[in-house]
Amino acid sequence: MPIKNRFAEMLPEITGWRHHLHENPELLYEVRETAAFVADRLREFGVDEVVEGVGQTGVVGIIRGRGASVRAIGLRADMDALPIHEATGLPYASKVAGKMHACGHDGHTAMLLGAAKYLAETRNFDGTVVLIFQPAEEGGAGAKAMIDDGLFERFPVNEVYGIHNAPGIPIGTFVTRPGPLQASSDEFEIIVTGKGGHAAEPHRAIDTTLVAAHILIALHSIVSRNVDPLKRVVLTVGTFSTDSAASNIIPDEARMEGTVRTLDPEYRQLAEARIRQVAEHTAAAFGAQAKVIWHPGYPVTVNDPDGAARAVDAARAVALNVIDDADPIMPSEDFSYMLEKVPGAYVFMGNGDSAMYHHPKYVFDDEAIPFGCSFFAELVERRLPTA
Ligand SMILES: [Zn+2]
Ligand SMILES: [Zn+2]
Repeated sequence: MPIKNRFAEMLPEITGWRHHLHENPELLYEVRETAAFVADRLREFGVDEVVEGVGQTGVVGIIRGRGASVRAIGLRADMDALPIHEATGLPYASKVAGKMHACGHDGHTAMLLGAAKYLAETRNFDGTVVLIFQPAEEGGAGAKAMIDDGLFERFPVNEVYGIHNAPGIPIGTFVTRPGPLQASSDEFEIIVTGKGGHAAEPHRAIDTTLVAAHILIALHSIVSRNVDPLKRVVLTVGTFSTDSAASNIIPDEARMEGTVRTLDPEYRQLAEARIRQVAEHTAAAFGAQAKVIWHPGYPVTVNDPDGAARAVDAARAVALNVIDDADPIMPSEDFSYMLEKVPGAYVFMGNGDSAMYHHPKYVFDDEAIPFGCSFFAELVERRLPTA
């Protein structure tokens, strides 16, 4: 096996941590027991420093190597679960109704703990390893909360790396690419106000349903007419409703909500500006008003080209297969905030033939654990070599 043998020996222990975390899922910033579990393990391993409460419930562990190098590398795992009711029937299934580790963050946390135990034992590197366990990846921007709490000022690193498991990719395969890997995700609301009235007397009203319908259609011209055809932008309107409760009422108000995903940061601004223009001016053309509320979400996840190349080198040393020029994907990821501050890379690691993540039957495959642990350890030993 290309993996580091120590992780094959440690597999039952690491799997035990994973199953414990899986049975006890916590959401967003409420990962208190998870964070305490992580901090306890790190202390047990003899990690040099353990700092809790970074970005509310994040945990940072510091492991110092053998020499005097001031270089440092950050390794990140996410700890939060999802509001999904588990349907796997596994013996270690979630004990909490309506909460489930359906994105494999229990696996990410267990793998980084495994790597931490190995690195604290061996210290076969010169420099500092900063272990970053973050809360609230699933929509809460926990990475940003840790950064805003001074993560990289208090624990400076030269490079930062993270792993996400990937259903549908064979176990032992790593996949990444230089440049944009995952999309940004912004949301918008549009509230259209006109003048309600009787459905049979539309000339006395301003029909907000009709105005909103025109806005919805016009919004779909943004991607097709304002975006370079070679760039990737998705605009979807997911909700559309009015305050009318009957077919014979013209409503006062109509609303819609949508999302914009892109791999090009410049198009986030363009999409916002065009959505405002299209909504406000289309409404004005009908004598109505439109208000646009913009909710910025996760940025584009951009791998530093050198960071991606280093991740690929480390992966090649421990994996069965490495794909270094994968297509980007449109789901977003808050590790993007860390990559905006520090060069590095995000990699996907095969989870075999499991159900897709965010599904009640998703299962993190424990056979993948030695690969993830080995990747983290190999990266450290390569990037912080001893003399
Ligand atoms: Zn997820
Ligand atoms: Zn995830």
